[in-house]
Amino acid sequence: MIEINDLHKSYKMGSNVLHVLKGINFSVKEGELVAIMGSSGSGKSTLLNILGMLDTMDTGTYMLDRVPIKNLNETKAAQYRNKFLGFIFQSFNLINYKTALENVALPLYYQRMPRKERQDKAMKYLERVGLRDWAYHHPNELSGGQKQRVAIARAMAAEPKVLLADEPTGALDSKTSYEVMDLIQKINQEGNTILVVTHEPDIANMCKRIVHLKDGVIEKDELVNQVMAAEYV
Ligand code: ADP
Ligand code: MG
Repeated sequence: MIEINDLHKSYKMGSNVLHVLKGINFSVKEGELVAIMGSSGSGKSTLLNILGMLDTMDTGTYMLDRVPIKNLNETKAAQYRNKFLGFIFQSFNLINYKTALENVALPLYYQRMPRKERQDKAMKYLERVGLRDWAYHHPNELSGGQKQRVAIARAMAAEPKVLLADEPTGALDSKTSYEVMDLIQKINQEGNTILVVTHEPDIANMCKRIVHLKDGVIEKDELVNQVMAAEYV
């Protein structure tokens, strides 16, 4: 599904160059649930944003669903992004003056799906995250965990190939974090490919595989021992 080779990324600030990603190689198969782990500032978000085509790489190659992703222009990148990728953020990024249902339906509006169809589909995905009864509520009436569930439904509604989550539990207490990760596990079991960026070992252990990012390279890439992970949590 995802294949990157020798990916490099630097940020230039005045005369300083910060070399964040220094030759990343990794691939993700369809149906995987992968954690990208590393300390704060290790480049996790930079990597996820490049995978999500929200940012461009300096050098390297990136194949997404067998399509080579070059540094595309904005319009082209947006088309690929909408077709292939769904995003989940730490801060939920919901629109406060829209209901949960309207938030989930919004990406479908941009796909020019007719109104009735997009409302039905949005309701279907709200149901899948257990929020049918909250469809007509606004984000400020929802708990943090519920807001993240709406965001997950919104990411899924466009039926992307890959879901990318950047610290999806970063703004939640630990009990709610586990609930959100349970949902992410369930969605993965239904066949979705999911990448989760986190700096929390407990959260990473709820994925099937952990990619450790350190000093700009992948330091370790390991499968999670599911039995041990269950005991740990
Ligand atoms: P993480 O998500 O692992 O905390 P980031 O990918 O956000 O790390 O950042 C990696 C490094 O790159 C940090 O040192 C950060 O300050 C720097 N950085 C991130 N984005 C930018 C940017 N747009 N301009 C300059 N430096 C940046
Ligand atoms: Mg980050």
